[in-house]
Amino acid sequence: MQIANRLKRIPPYLFMELRNKINKAKAEGIDVISLAVGDPVEPTPQPVIDALNRSAAEAANHRYPTDEEKGMFAFRRAVADWYSARYNTDLDPEREVLGLIGSKEGCHHFILAVANPGDTVLMTDPGYPAYRASILMAEAEPYNVPITVDNGFLPRLADIPSDVAKRSTAMFLNYPNNPTGAIATPEFFAEVVEFSKTHGIAICHDNPYSEIVFDDTEPLSFLSTPGAIDVGVELNSLSKPFNMTGWRIGMATGNQELISGIAQVKENTDSGVFNAIQYAGIAALSKCQHNIGQMLQIYTRRREKILNTFKEVVPASYAPPKGTFYLWLPTPNEMNSIDFATFIFERAAVVITAGSAYGEFGEGYFRVALTVPDARLEEALDRIRQALG
Ligand SMILES: *Cc1c(COP(=O)(O)O)cnc(C)c1O
Repeated sequence: MQIANRLKRIPPYLFMELRNKINKAKAEGIDVISLAVGDPVEPTPQPVIDALNRSAAEAANHRYPTDEEKGMFAFRRAVADWYSARYNTDLDPEREVLGLIGSKEGCHHFILAVANPGDTVLMTDPGYPAYRASILMAEAEPYNVPITVDNGFLPRLADIPSDVAKRSTAMFLNYPNNPTGAIATPEFFAEVVEFSKTHGIAICHDNPYSEIVFDDTEPLSFLSTPGAIDVGVELNSLSKPFNMTGWRIGMATGNQELISGIAQVKENTDSGVFNAIQYAGIAALSKCQHNIGQMLQIYTRRREKILNTFKEVVPASYAPPKGTFYLWLPTPNEMNSIDFATFIFERAAVVITAGSAYGEFGEGYFRVALTVPDARLEEALDRIRQALG
């Protein structure tokens, strides 16, 4: 049987060796603690669960979703209202908002809607691996734009070679950034709008961590930038702010033409999100903002514990970025990322992510997630402290 070439181009998981060691240790009954995965352990807020229970009991909701791939109007209006309250935007829920099965799905459908085979699509290195996979599945060509600490992990748009910029049709950006935790500024987003207009590049700003920012940082949407709606879309998700990763609901907002392109792909791919989950999503957006505040307190506490553990090995000059529920830290003594992750695993049975998993410019860093129960995190950090001696 033939498996399509487009799947063969997706890079395999790079660190099989470490993964095999982890699986073997687990099989031997070793108590492995993973700080590798970003997936909140606290439950979804009760009003969301109540809304699902109520809506799931209604037969009308058992049928294909209302307005199918676009998402029901009430959900799109709740998204527009939340965006207006949080980011001071003025979105038209009919034409500038689309329901999604999560922001990951949106990335994939965005590329199918904008890129022809062979087109160049810009993404950052390090960057979220799903962008590369989506670009390759659309038979387009990813081009890595490095992001480094000396520019706050923001790409230097002026350094993108002009022939590359000229032939690019789209660009993925993601701030607060996974894996680096970096946040954008309104000035940077203004440059992105300029760059996009100059070269005719459609922007996909993937913003599922918009609300997860520390130290009194203002949450930021790309769509708050003047002109952004002319050049791009923003993807967002209920997964991260409302502890709803398993529910599979998110949204795309922004440019009408791009939104209808994504809707056309969806129309021919899926039939949207279960109505009952959309009602639950409305409850999250309209009643659960306080939950985000509570989660931020929890993440702040964990963040401090982790920073405290690594303060001896991370240079004092390194200022940890201000967003996401990850910490992105330099390895001690510029150790190779995979060597450091292997060392921590072998000495402490704790799994951290090697920075190089996100691209060559992730080399020299490691990522830890704050989505681990406090007691487990403390146990992991005790073991790491011992391992580091
Ligand atoms: C978690 C994550 C997603 C996926 O979000 P869903 O809405 O659950 O699909 C998308 N992009 C980035 C950068 C993420 O870290």
